[in-house]
Amino acid sequence: MAAYDYLVVGAGLFGAVFAREAANAGRKVLVVDRRGHIAGNVYTQKIEGINVHVYGAHIFHTNDKRVWEYVTKYAEFNRFTNSPVANYKGELYSLPFNMYTFNRMWGVVTPDEAAAKIEEQRRAAGITEPKNLEEQAISLVGTDIYEKLIKGYTQKQWGRPCTELPAFIIKRLPVRLTFDNNYFNALYQGIPVGGYTKLAENLLDGIEVRLGVDYLKNRAELDALADRVVFTGPVDEFFGYALGPLEYRSVRFETEVLNTPNFQGNAAVNYTDAETPWTRIIEHKWFEFGKDEAGKELPKTVISREFSSEWKPGDEPYYPVNDEKNGALYAAYRQMAAKEEKVIFGGRLGEYKYYDMDAVIAAALARAGAELG
Ligand code: UDP
Repeated sequence: MAAYDYLVVGAGLFGAVFAREAANAGRKVLVVDRRGHIAGNVYTQKIEGINVHVYGAHIFHTNDKRVWEYVTKYAEFNRFTNSPVANYKGELYSLPFNMYTFNRMWGVVTPDEAAAKIEEQRRAAGITEPKNLEEQAISLVGTDIYEKLIKGYTQKQWGRPCTELPAFIIKRLPVRLTFDNNYFNALYQGIPVGGYTKLAENLLDGIEVRLGVDYLKNRAELDALADRVVFTGPVDEFFGYALGPLEYRSVRFETEVLNTPNFQGNAAVNYTDAETPWTRIIEHKWFEFGKDEAGKELPKTVISREFSSEWKPGDEPYYPVNDEKNGALYAAYRQMAAKEEKVIFGGRLGEYKYYDMDAVIAAALARAGAELG
């Protein structure tokens, strides 16, 4: 008999939720992670009293009441609402695209005027059925907004022209004829008080976790420890890249502590022109209103510039590249994965899917439910 019922590889959200559910169901669980910390890419580290989102900004948002009730059992959430600002060559625009954006762009005042302007630009572009991100964007918000707020940013983020990207990526962003700067169409939104690391710690409370353990390098030995394996690392790496590597976009962060209390006045400022080398600057303290847990104002600030890059082996994978080529390659890996009877593949890397946090949690709960009965 194996020592554990489940070996969970990866202490990110999928792994931590699955481990919690298995432990709650009375199973013996061991979690391993090759990094020196838990929480995967939602990991936050305290610097100058500020919870820094080390692997990029994460803003929890969901329409799924069950997921919201689940996460709020394991952490208290604040009332942060994401309202990024777009900086196009010094012109500042509200995001997502809403009446403030349209007013600044065209001087229009009413929703009818904004809708007419969008319609006029859409017609002039002659797009009936959008086939790619560029056409989708123009048909949603018109040419001016596409040129100033979408084109440069998207091409920097994905390293590909908008004409070669799928339309669905831009559909993540709401377009509103109201004065509502909330970036997400979600009923529930916030940031865990004390950072995401605390959420992961609470999920993993009482569960054995071994850090700095690389499953793929010690597979035989670790497999022998458990009846079932939950693998949340890259699916192609699991199979030794047998069919070739799946492509990702990676992100490099340049993080600085600044001796000023307020650098940009907002958590996220997107640089939407093509020339600025970074995509956005995150000022982490504004996820928690500039205060520490005791409610005290913080004298310094921490900012991270994000540079998007093509992933190469050895880099951290962030965004799956959802084009046809990678979709087909993943489908082939998924067939291989289905034959691994002992292994459950989950999460952004295990399923090669552009998952939001809430969807990862919902997927982990569903998988755990099916598995644990
Ligand atoms: N996007 C854009 N301009 C912006 C912000 C986003 O054109 O200022 C586009 C871009 O194509 C991006 C997509 O919207 O890939 C989705 O953005 P989101 O903020 O959802 O991406 P994430 O937060 O996952 O990085």
